[in-house]
Amino acid sequence: MIDVIVVGGGPVGCYAAFVLAGEGIEVLVLEEHPAIGYPVDCSGVVGAEAFDAFDLSREPILDEVRMVRLISPSGESLSYRSAEPFAYVTDRAAFDQVIARKALDVGAVIQTGCRVVDLRPAQAAIEVVIEEERRGAAEGRYDGKGGQRTFLARMAILAGGPWYKLQEKLGMGTPKALLRTAQAEMEVVGLPEAQVLFGRAVAPGSFAWFLPFRREGHLFARVGVSSREPALPYFKQLHERFRASGYLADPAPSARAWVIPIAPLSRTVADRVLAVGDAAGQTKPTTGGGLFYGLLCAQFAAGTAAEAFRAGDFSARFLERYEKRWRQRLGPELKVASFFRGLFERMTDTEIDQCFQIVGTDGLLGRLSRRVHFDWHKDVILTMLRQPALARIFFRGLFR
Ligand SMILES: Cc1cc2nc3c(=O)[nH]c(=O)nc-3n(C[C@H](O)[C@H](O)[C@H](O)COP(=O)(O)OP(=O)(O)OC[C@H]3O[C@@H](n4cnc5c(N)ncnc54)[C@H](O)[C@@H]3O)c2cc1C
Repeated sequence: MIDVIVVGGGPVGCYAAFVLAGEGIEVLVLEEHPAIGYPVDCSGVVGAEAFDAFDLSREPILDEVRMVRLISPSGESLSYRSAEPFAYVTDRAAFDQVIARKALDVGAVIQTGCRVVDLRPAQAAIEVVIEEERRGAAEGRYDGKGGQRTFLARMAILAGGPWYKLQEKLGMGTPKALLRTAQAEMEVVGLPEAQVLFGRAVAPGSFAWFLPFRREGHLFARVGVSSREPALPYFKQLHERFRASGYLADPAPSARAWVIPIAPLSRTVADRVLAVGDAAGQTKPTTGGGLFYGLLCAQFAAGTAAEAFRAGDFSARFLERYEKRWRQRLGPELKVASFFRGLFERMTDTEIDQCFQIVGTDGLLGRLSRRVHFDWHKDVILTMLRQPALARIFFRGLFR
């Protein structure tokens, strides 16, 4: 019998394990892939605040972000600059690994190469059924078909990213909205500025990005698309666009397609179970970034689990305090951000262009810039919606 099994050795699962183990609770993290951090499905941009807020090592930082150019459907551009870096480009695998190391250092155990395939209620415990990786499985990729084993735990924390089979089975639901993504990393020739691109032809309902960074003296970029529609075709067009401009040499980079939840589960607790991170849909509805909110909620989840051990009560009713805490902290942000996403998704390319023109005049960009925060978007959204000229455009789609 193990105290807590964490399903998924991503940053959020490992961070929850770190907090729990620090409380003297026995934790086993089960990760399906053979190595922590791989494969990478992320741009690895981490807001400056996160390193201090979660006491994270800066070792995985590759580069800083001080400037981003926003590009409208017709090619108008607005630049946001900050004197200090507002975010950092990290080596995302190394980012996960330093958090895993933190957890190991305080006594958590991490077992790789085993996928959790079921959770079942048991006598004063929960059964965690795992499928072990088949010997000789392809490097870096889970390839099941090994034997099954069952662990018994007092509690389980679901931190397996955007897969919702177990959550559905436990009555937690699934996120109401997902973004599809496609991204690749490649060498770049002479375009050292970060870009975010908008428009129906580029990334319907969302945005595309070009994120340059230096690694060992060479310039690379993570180039990607998020969209409500399958993203790979849009990625191919985007890649062609930058290649035609002479910035990318690789003629056929292999992009990875993935998904991001942009709405939380209706419920993130069940008897003896908590869900956290992407597994709970705890991301920013605007951008889909999930590292900051996931780590924050891992603190709430681990704190609540520690209280459950002290009280000897693992019922959903007791664990609901986790749900209350994280919703109290993130609820207002999520509400405003997902309302804004709803408005944005209804906008035509012409309307997006009009917004760019308005923001670019009368010092509005400067006023908005003062409200920008990498992980907290409510303020800047409300400031935009309070500008009558912008609000007229944002709300137009609601009446169409
Ligand atoms: C293209 C793209 C770009 C992104 N860019 C950013 C960004 O720049 N900044 C940002 O903040 N966020 C970004 N995100 C979102 C971010 O990657 C996620 O929010 C973050 O990874 C969530 O962490 P997690 O630990 O909850 O889940 P994950 O990182 O998905 O980790 C889950 C882990 O659980 C394992 N697992 C899954 N199921 C099981 C199972 N049944 N049994 C055992 N193990 C299992 C997986 O192998 C994985 O290791 C991006 C996402 C995408 C797709």
